[in-house]
Amino acid sequence: MSNGTSYEVLARKYRPQSFSELTGQEHVSRTLQNAIDSGRVAHAFLFTGARGVGKTSTARILAKTLNCEQGVTHEPCNVCPQCIEITKGTSTDVFEIDGASNNGVEDVRDLRDSIKYLPSHSRYKIIIIDEVHMLSTNAFNALLKTLEEPPEHVKFIFATTEPHKLPITILSRCQRFDFKRVPVAKIITRLREIAGKENVIISDSSLALIARKGDGSMRDSLTAFDQVLAFCDSSVSDEDVATLIGAVDPRLLADISAAVFGGDTQAVLAGIKRVDMVGYNMRQFCQDLIEHFRNLLVIRSVKNPEEILDLADAELEELRHQAAAFTAQDIQRRLTLLIKADSEMAFASFQRLILEMALLKAALLVPVLPISELLEKIKLLEAGAVHTPALPWNAGRPAVPGTGDRDQREPQRPAPQPARTPQPAAAASTSKPVQHGTHSDWERFVAFVVEKRPAIGSVLEHGSPLKLEPGLMEIGFPAGSYYLTSAQDADSISEIRALAHEFSGTEAAVKIRSITPETGSSPASLAEKKKSDRLQRIESLKQEVAAHPVINEALRLFGGTITDIRET
Ligand SMILES: [Zn+2]
Repeated sequence: MSNGTSYEVLARKYRPQSFSELTGQEHVSRTLQNAIDSGRVAHAFLFTGARGVGKTSTARILAKTLNCEQGVTHEPCNVCPQCIEITKGTSTDVFEIDGASNNGVEDVRDLRDSIKYLPSHSRYKIIIIDEVHMLSTNAFNALLKTLEEPPEHVKFIFATTEPHKLPITILSRCQRFDFKRVPVAKIITRLREIAGKENVIISDSSLALIARKGDGSMRDSLTAFDQVLAFCDSSVSDEDVATLIGAVDPRLLADISAAVFGGDTQAVLAGIKRVDMVGYNMRQFCQDLIEHFRNLLVIRSVKNPEEILDLADAELEELRHQAAAFTAQDIQRRLTLLIKADSEMAFASFQRLILEMALLKAALLVPVLPISELLEKIKLLEAGAVHTPALPWNAGRPAVPGTGDRDQREPQRPAPQPARTPQPAAAASTSKPVQHGTHSDWERFVAFVVEKRPAIGSVLEHGSPLKLEPGLMEIGFPAGSYYLTSAQDADSISEIRALAHEFSGTEAAVKIRSITPETGSSPASLAEKKKSDRLQRIESLKQEVAAHPVINEALRLFGGTITDIRET
């Protein structure tokens, strides 16, 4: 590279001098050239767009095209005195005015006075006003009078980063061109050309870092390149570039991202330590990581990510490779955690800690199933076909049967608890459970009666077996209930006695008692037991469902809550 006192900044040295050299604004070049070719050139132009995207360069190229001695063609010759003067900024007929410093009404009046006269030795007097939105209201009004009745020999070219600040009266009198941010790939191509001309050896990934530093501005990218070249010789290392322009090394992003998706907590924290050691700002790094994840997400979500992402081909290829193993959902969930961390970091003094926590959480996320598969599983669960979560939690990784695979699953759920054996509470409250006087004997007897005499059986189902002893059967019914009345009927009692005899082969007296809550606890009737069993089943089903990862994931994804559980 040329060195020392004669060093000219790249942005000036490589300023585009013709429409063909203008990078990333082909739509503007084409329209202007068509207008020139067809002889329909407006008398006022407005160039809008971010800084450093080529507005002023285009204004100069247009000025040269209009005043070139070779005639008005769609490229300036760049060798005639007119073209050379305009390139140097010494033309007496082309005025470049900075709207920010010449924004008063006097300035515009001076301008109006000077454009009354014909150009000294050119076709047109050309007024280029940069940052035109900075003009005062009075200056705009003065300018407007000229714009309304422009002399034939005058052309205006306005440039601004903030067109919304211009009065509508000015806007409506200009042909407007919106300049775009220059795509990274195009900046890289241009930087590559310049590196060749400057005899600098530099990698594509370094050029990508420099290009990205410009954020769509060719001028800012060239300034970053200047910065790099000022510190390096003809050979530039990736590390130097990253350090010099304060960008994070893309390999570090890739490493941490791989660690997060691989669940490698050790590598995650080691990566953050590296970031800290190179003195990189934690929040900036978090934002770079967000952009990285966003790139991965776009790659996994759309068919043609290159149309959405502003990336060089090599970068896209690398990211495609990284994204291949994950689903869009996996990426999205991690992205959400990072975005949350970023906003927390804005107000925190422990930025590193916040980032570490977010990335650890991201690394430990359980992979989710695709929604379609999830719904299928839920359907099966509802149909009762699946009892336990024999689900591929490690969908992303190969599951090894019979190994520690289980450890990575969600906490163990309580085993399904179907029909329980009778609770001991029933037996305990029976005063003397002599011999076969257990609750299950009672259950068997009631089942026997239901079979033989359904009407009496259904009454007995509501009875509490108070005493079941040889020769005595004492049954309690809720005071005032229909069941008590039915059971107290003499016919019922003799039938129960007969059935008991048939069931056990021994004679027993049958006593029917009325029970109230005040008479103390009595064993639950079968009907009560059935009811409480059912409630218990629902309760345990609820717990099971609440702990079920698939259901939880479904709730999280759809933002739902469990309101009802139905037995099938
Ligand atoms: Zn020329």
